[in-house]
Parts: sequence; C-alpha cells; structure tokens
Amino acid sequence: MSNRQEATDVRYRTHRISDLNAKHVGTALKLSGRVSHIRDHGGISFIHLADGTGEIQIRFNPENFPNFELGREEWMTVGGTLEIRPEGTMNVLNPDIVLPAHELVATSAEVHARPTISLDKLPSLERYTARGKDDRTESRHDEQQGEGVASTVSEEFLLRYRPFSLRRNDLQRALRIRSRVAHHIRSFLQSEGFCEIETPILAAPTPEGARDFLVPSRVYRGSAYALPQSPQIYKQLLMIGGLDRYYQFSRCFRDEDLRANRQPEFTQVDLEMSFVTEDDIIELVTRMLTNLLESIKGATPTLSRPYRFSRMTHAEALASYGTDAPDLRIPYRLISLTEVFRQTAFDTFRKYVEMGGAILGIPIPASDRLGRNEIDRLRTWAKDHGLPQPAWGDRKDGEFISSIGKHFSGQEQGHLVSLMEEGGQIFFAAEATLSDARRVAGQLRPQIAVRSQVTDLERWEFVWITGFPAFERNAEGNLAPAHHPFTDLDLPENPSEDPWQLLETSSRAYDLALNGEELGSGSLRIHDLAKQLQVLKVLGYDEERSRRSFPHLLAGLEYGAPPHGGIALGFDRMISKLLGLDSIRQVIAFPKDGKGRCLMTGSPVRIESEDLRHLGLGIMVSEKDSGA
Ligand code: ASP
Repeated sequence: MSNRQEATDVRYRTHRISDLNAKHVGTALKLSGRVSHIRDHGGISFIHLADGTGEIQIRFNPENFPNFELGREEWMTVGGTLEIRPEGTMNVLNPDIVLPAHELVATSAEVHARPTISLDKLPSLERYTARGKDDRTESRHDEQQGEGVASTVSEEFLLRYRPFSLRRNDLQRALRIRSRVAHHIRSFLQSEGFCEIETPILAAPTPEGARDFLVPSRVYRGSAYALPQSPQIYKQLLMIGGLDRYYQFSRCFRDEDLRANRQPEFTQVDLEMSFVTEDDIIELVTRMLTNLLESIKGATPTLSRPYRFSRMTHAEALASYGTDAPDLRIPYRLISLTEVFRQTAFDTFRKYVEMGGAILGIPIPASDRLGRNEIDRLRTWAKDHGLPQPAWGDRKDGEFISSIGKHFSGQEQGHLVSLMEEGGQIFFAAEATLSDARRVAGQLRPQIAVRSQVTDLERWEFVWITGFPAFERNAEGNLAPAHHPFTDLDLPENPSEDPWQLLETSSRAYDLALNGEELGSGSLRIHDLAKQLQVLKVLGYDEERSRRSFPHLLAGLEYGAPPHGGIALGFDRMISKLLGLDSIRQVIAFPKDGKGRCLMTGSPVRIESEDLRHLGLGIMVSEKDSGA
C-alpha cells in the first residue's frame, strides 16, 4: 500500500507492525493494535501501539487531536505517516519496538474498545528490560534469579487474568517460539515421510504409569472413556495398519500428584516408525533437533547456545552421574569408595558398607574447590532437602585433610589422595543402598557446581541413554515395566518361572536428557503376539485379563505387526528448557496452576446434580474431602 488514498480506504490496517521498515518513511499507513505504553511530553502524546508482531511509537500532535483522550490498553486504529524520529529520541532499550528510529505521526485515530476495569486490578504488563529473562542463566543460579526482570507479578495473578497477562511480551515471545518450533518439527518430519495423524482423546486406558482421567458415558451408564496418557497403543496400531511413519503433537493426560513442573495435560511430539532399530530413531531425532537448533539460532540468546549430543548406557549414567538424566555440563563424576572403606575404623562408613550399602566420592579439581562459606551453603541446602549433610575432605601438600580424616587409616587416606588433584576436594555420599547413595550423590553434583561456579553452563548437553533395565520393583514392591509393557526386550526362556530374574534383563528403550532433565523416551516395541502375552503374564495379566485390558493391541498383533519403535518428546518441557525458563507454565497459553486448577475458568468445577443424574452417578465424598 503506498499512497494516502489507499490507506484511508482500508478499514483496519495497511501493514502489520513487523512488516514496516525504513523504506516506508513518508508513506501513509494505517495500523491497528493495542496501546501498550503512553506518555505525555509537553502536550504531545506518545503511545506504543502493539499488534502482536511488534510495537511502534505513535506521535499525536495536539493540533490534530484537540480533545482526544488516550488510555493504556485501548484497542485502536491509527492512520498517519511514518517519519524519522528527531535525533536523540530513539528508544533503543525496548527490544520490542520494531523501528526504534521511526514513529508514525498520527492524522486519524479510532478507539474500538477501552478497558472498563481499573488496570490496577490486573497483572502488570511491564516488559522485560534489555537484560531480560532471555539473558539469564538457568534456574540453578537461584541466588541471581530475578535480575533484569522488570516485573515481579505473582503467578496466581498471571493465571487468573490470563487473557490480560497474555499481552505480556515475555508470554507472547514464548508462544511464538513454541509455534515456530512446532512448525519446524512438522516440516522436518513431513520431509522425512511421516504422516501426521490424530488419535482419539476419548479413549481406553493406557498403562503409562499414572492414573487415567475418566469421562463417564451418559449413553452407557457405568462406563467411561479414559483420556489417553499417551497415544502409545494407537501409534502401534497405525504401524500394524501399514502407515509406516506417524507423528502427532499429541495431548496427553495423566492424573498424578502434581509435582512442581508437571501439568495434568501436556503435549508430546509423538512418533512411531516401522522397520527401525534404536540407532535409526536416535539418529533421526538427533538430526531433527540439530536442524531445529540451527534454523532458530539467534531467535533468543538461549537458542543461540552451543549444543552437543552424546550417548551412554544406563549403567554408565548411574555409575558416573548417579542419575539416568545426567547434566553433562557438570564435569564431576562419581567414584565408588565402598571397597576402600570396607574394613574402615570409621563407624559411620563401615556401618553402611556392612548393611550392603555404598560409599561414593565426588572429587572436584583445585580450580573448583569450595570455600568455607560455600560448603556451609551446600550443607544447608542438603539439610533443607532431607539429604544427609555431606562430609568432605581436601588434598593439601599431598595429605588428606578433613574433620573426619582422623578416623581413616594411612592406607585409606593414601587411596583418597591418589584420587584427588593437589588442592582439590572430595565430597562423600554414604547410604544404606547403592541406589540411595547414587541418588544423593547425583543430587549433590549440580549443587556443588552452583557453589563452585562452574562457568560453562550456557550450552545444551543432550545425552541419549540406552540399555535400560526392562523391569523395576515399584513402590508397592511389585515387578513393573521400567518403560511400558510394550517395550521389546531379550526375554529368557521361561520368564514366568522366576519373574524376578527379569530385573537383570535389559530392554530396547532409550531416553533423551537435556541438561539434567528427561526430554523424551521411547523404545522398540514387541511385535510378536506370543511374546507380548508372555510379558503381560509376568506382570500379572493372564491371557483372559490381557485380552480384556488390551483387546485392540492384541487383535492388532494377531493381524501381524511389522517391527516398529518410536519415541515421545515432552514439547512443553523442550520449549521451556530451550528458552531458559523455569516452568512449563510459562510456555503454555492456558496452563493449570501447580495444584491442577485452572484459575481462569475455575475448573475443575463442581458437577451439578442434574448432570450427575444424566450420567447415573452419585458423589460419595463430603465437601470437605473433595478438596473444594
Ligand atoms: N508412550 C511413551 C510415553 O508417553 C513414549 C514412547 O514409548 O514412545 O512416554
């Protein structure tokens, strides 16, 4: 649109703000949006107009607008001409201003809507400053959190008034990046021959380890649909149906006790492929993420960080890092000291060894050694997190120096010294079981890193973990699948004879972790009916119960299934991590709060007795028990 005549003919807009550039100077334009900022300067009003693509300054000269009242958060259409701003008035600090050296000089204006509620009652929309959230390092630098963030509005407020808080630049930026990433993943998978297919939301239960949300049926009283915990069985059936390569941005629903960074509904990038090995899937997803990171490099500072993919076995991850989602930015590794202290005179350690437990050490180099204050902070952290306070020692002039050192024999001290760098330190984790010792040491590692100021944290360390055990003992002491019961594994001859031997069996599952958090998991699947029935049997499902619980999967396997496998990546988690945000709620348009409630709509809502009658249901709990 290039002349005034055309601009006045247009009802709302000739351009979206981000389409404007210096070439439009002198052009008559019409823009529509929201007044995000307003200031008065010697009778001249300046506003920032925001239209979802960016913001621009608009100048209202009083001679053109004699009795014109402007207010923040009004929706309006403004006509005028783009001009260069007078020297020295550029707004370089606001990164959302699309043309900081230009402004639209208004000649016409129409207000479409004004807020009828006082803005003081709504969340602050203060924008992030130039040193905004994107520039922050991640949450582990907890002491520094909040730096550079202009607004400290509470999350409850942001959720309750969500349509209003969505006007914030930080939330809009996150949703736009989310959309770009989704678009990129879609086009990558399309180009690799994947077919996007939606699977049902009103589904039957899937055993993904959580409780199902149920949707009672009105027509079939006493029956219910289950919301899918994942499309696991459906995607396997798609392979049986011959679709060969499937993907979906699938919504998953899990009714579990909410932990801080969980939502009862979340999105996964879910895919499944026929005729693949673990390596094929790992290669494809690595390529997908590499392409993604290369293509959106520069979109935000965190997205421009260097990245690396590596791979290790589950056993290696546990032995060296104490967790199956290791943060490889932190160089410290665990070492086993159980044998060193088997005969020790130091009662505390010997007691654990005698109980069948373990003593682990985390040596750190001289350059990273913690000072007294930092050690005190680490101890306070450990205490606050229910961990035994860590014991530690130093190597100084070739000697082992520690408050517990006097309990150690010369040989024990010599051994420790040989494992430590001169001037370095070692931290100990002693526990009654090896898995507890690993858990404690695994949690200490990043905490030591925060306090030793490991500097190289601004990078993305992806790590594939393979060779998971097929089964584990669950909290109730029963044998349970470590991934899900459809995961392929090397099954012994007669698995039902001694099901516990299956704890030693490794499966064909794999996980992808990013900077210490699981980003996704998948596996090759069992594609043989007899093997699937055997696995279900050791899990306590006889054939009759298996057929009742998974009729569709077992029928599918009866038609014959190609070898297949897949993976699901947590999409909300991926976006929040890549943007360096602490919570997945910051990348979801309408999230639930940390207790599973939607503060905006008030859901979950009390069911009206009329609705209950239709469904043939009654409520058996008192109002007090219902958590209402
Ligand atoms: N269905 C699995 C999950 O949601 C992922 C997979 O095995 O593909 O974790």
